[in-house]
Amino acid sequence: MTAVTLTETGPGRRGDSFLSVQDLHVSFSTEDGTVKAVDGLSFEVEKGTTLGIVGESGSGKSVTNLAILGLHNSEHAEIGGEIWFEDRELVGASRTTLERLRGNRIAMIFQDPLTALSPFHTVGRQIGEVYRKHKGASKREARDRAIEMLDRVGIPNAKVRVDDYPHHFSGGMRQRVMIAMALVCDPALVIADEPTTALDVTVQAQILDLLKDLQDQMGTSIILITHDLGVVAQAAHNVLVMYAGRAAERGTVREVLGAPRHPYTWGLLSSAPRLGSAVDVPLKPVRGTPPSLLNPPSGCRFHPRCDYVKQVGPDLCAAELPELSPESGHGDACYLTLKQKQEIHTQLMEGR
Ligand code: SF4
Repeated sequence: MTAVTLTETGPGRRGDSFLSVQDLHVSFSTEDGTVKAVDGLSFEVEKGTTLGIVGESGSGKSVTNLAILGLHNSEHAEIGGEIWFEDRELVGASRTTLERLRGNRIAMIFQDPLTALSPFHTVGRQIGEVYRKHKGASKREARDRAIEMLDRVGIPNAKVRVDDYPHHFSGGMRQRVMIAMALVCDPALVIADEPTTALDVTVQAQILDLLKDLQDQMGTSIILITHDLGVVAQAAHNVLVMYAGRAAERGTVREVLGAPRHPYTWGLLSSAPRLGSAVDVPLKPVRGTPPSLLNPPSGCRFHPRCDYVKQVGPDLCAAELPELSPESGHGDACYLTLKQKQEIHTQLMEGR
């Protein structure tokens, strides 16, 4: 877990949205019933910015992004709502449209490059194939582009390393190769799913810096999926906190990590180390476990784990699903009043 420290990395830019997800629902039919993996989620990503999507396992963050990539078009999955990307609606898009977009306008960086890269082909060939497929380049052009990309992501001696296989690279270097492959066609959007989880903290910081540099050079937008608030503080502009398939809180990094409003965000922050706090301050994980999405709790999905139900009145928390409010800017889905949230947050900070 990376320590949470707010830096100038997250200026909280808000500008043109070019990815807009509206009331997204994704459910899967299983032998045990219907799993509601994403349940009425809306968010936007702006050009050239990074949105960090945070939450525990099973919060729906990876499923949301697979829906953007159109990978849920199967008989077992049902998708509702709208996903607008560069003036195209993706939920109803044809397989051909989605295949044209994937790897070209929208690219993915996976957590484990060893499983995402083929062990049987050189990295140059794998990067070049993506370029040839989407840009119609010749073998020569594709090889030159692969060398250029390896060089750009900081692989030393790229002209030679282009002929190496994935297992010839260290974990951090393999992740750089994955980034080269993801960016080879100049995508407008990169979805990075826990891209640094398998790396030690020093290499993790290097990879996050690299992504930021490339974003500055190429104007790419990034969705960074992570369970680690320290990574979000380091690399994102805006944050979406997800719980049980829904949005719990959203805002800029400064707003959400500096003045969090939702009890679940307080819990996530209390369970993460903070730079600057005394070493003997104990970490406090969120009590209980994430709910089953086969049969999620009624009302606020977080109410069985929430310490503040009494302050609202249990009837409301367990009966009515809170919506994210206000509609834009720093918002959260909780019935506590803003004054109560501010007082509780101040008390929590004083107790650290
Ligand atoms: Fe807790 Fe109620 Fe707020 Fe949900 S709505 S986070 S249960 S206080």
